[in-house]
Amino acid sequence: MRDLDIQQLGDEFGQYIIYLKCVCGHIRRCHPHTLAAFAGWDATLADVVRRLRCSKCNQKQCTARAVPMTAPRGYKSH
Ligand SMILES: [Zn+2]
Repeated sequence: MRDLDIQQLGDEFGQYIIYLKCVCGHIRRCHPHTLAAFAGWDATLADVVRRLRCSKCNQKQCTARAVPMTAPRGYKSH
């Protein structure tokens, strides 16, 4: 799947999904809404990710990938 180039959380109108991968291999999926709730939509994704702590190993070593939200079933772009 194509990765999005997200600078600020508000990019792509927040219509994307973030995959956070930690150095320990733990991956979690979150929505920009979750991050914007405490950081604000103007915050940069890189900045927010740097502050995130892994829920498994407690390190702040996450890297983020942003991918488009999965299109609804039967969706066709014309
Ligand atoms: Zn971890």
